[in-house]
Amino acid sequence: MILYGNSALCANGELCIGGWRASDLKEQFGTPLYVYDEDYIRTSIQSYHNAFAATGVDYALAYACKAFCTVAMCQLAREENAWLDVVSGGELHTALQAGVDPAFVYMHGNNKSPDELLYAIKAGIGMVVIDNFYEIELLAELLEQENATMDVLLRVSPGVDVHTHEFIATGRQDSKFGFDLYSGHVDLAIDRLAAFPRIQLLGVHSHIGSQIFDADGFRVAASRLASLAAHLGRRYGVWFRILNLGGGMGVRYTSDDSPIPVNRLVEGIVQAAAASFQEYGIPLPKLMMEPGRSIVAQAGTTLYTVGSRKEMPGVRTYVAVDGGMTDNPRLALYGAKYEACIANRANDPDVETVSIAGKCCESGDMLIWDVSLPKPVPGDILAVSCTGAYNYSMASNYNRVAKPAVVFVRGSEARLVVERETAADVCRLDRSLSGLTFTSRG
Ligand SMILES: *Cc1c(COP(=O)(O)O)cnc(C)c1O
Repeated sequence: MILYGNSALCANGELCIGGWRASDLKEQFGTPLYVYDEDYIRTSIQSYHNAFAATGVDYALAYACKAFCTVAMCQLAREENAWLDVVSGGELHTALQAGVDPAFVYMHGNNKSPDELLYAIKAGIGMVVIDNFYEIELLAELLEQENATMDVLLRVSPGVDVHTHEFIATGRQDSKFGFDLYSGHVDLAIDRLAAFPRIQLLGVHSHIGSQIFDADGFRVAASRLASLAAHLGRRYGVWFRILNLGGGMGVRYTSDDSPIPVNRLVEGIVQAAAASFQEYGIPLPKLMMEPGRSIVAQAGTTLYTVGSRKEMPGVRTYVAVDGGMTDNPRLALYGAKYEACIANRANDPDVETVSIAGKCCESGDMLIWDVSLPKPVPGDILAVSCTGAYNYSMASNYNRVAKPAVVFVRGSEARLVVERETAADVCRLDRSLSGLTFTSRG
């Protein structure tokens, strides 16, 4: 298992995260448990700041909350000077609960509801990223009603499609997000926006994919957006003030993954954007990026307790833990790969290959296929690394399993930032068969 940040093996061969032994975390907080190395999250955000600062361009960094959205995480991201990119009323509410300045929050989404847009307007968030024609009309109407104004970016789909370390630069992209660059929709959207003085267009946004390992796809996107900027400048006299190139930077789930370091990635993206805008003779707008996964994934480790075992000689050995697809659905959803260790004796030699199963009534409820480990026995602590992104945020209550707690470790302190759900929490909104009856109007 790759050890990130302040994770290390202590003298007794046990996995330690910051100043905490895995066994102490288990004793204090129980399992399954999401453990975050707080300083490592901070360092990850700082590495983007340092990379941008080194290029000397005007920039702003945002954290894509959907990767891991809790009150404490929103506070931490703002402390590290990242904007918050939210994609729903729930994420916006979390950010507001965190007490952050709404001017540094912006909202994405391909189908923002009237209620969500109204919430955003009333909260006074910094920007809305407009995704489609319906939203232009809806936003304009709500702004009129609220006697308010809103800064916006236009989400453009630049025809660059990234699948991990490969990308396809097609003329057309089949995507539910944004205005297509090649069908004249962007021009139509700008024509329409011109009718609504309450909406102020600050620039464009594009997001090309996720788990991206190098700058190539971003280079193509930047050059297409520079061309768009030149076209719109000539045609409408509008000059972008912001160019947001989205998120999607990759992480190392396993030793097979090798994303380039953040400083080289950012340098490559900035150079490409600067060169493209220079080619068209237009000033480079303020650059924005909105990483999610690469801020939190490697900082997170999930601890489980080992339980049952099913051995089929010549076929497979299943080792089951006290969590599974309810706390990490990524293998079930995407075939994602993870690494693991037996945290309470991480130095013991690997003696067998097993597959780690969850406890749900679903054959697809697996965490890892084929991992080499010391023989796991009931009561051992299984640590799965790189679970900080899209695990807690995608967790469910399938089988009425309660969601684990979340702990931030910093040095000798471990802070409980999300409490463990109880069975009572899971039932909280249920009403009995005779409860809450409504009769139709007939
Ligand atoms: C998901 C998403 C992000 C974050 O992607 P990561 O892969 O987590 O960095 C950023 N922007 C948009 C529009 C997204 O949909």
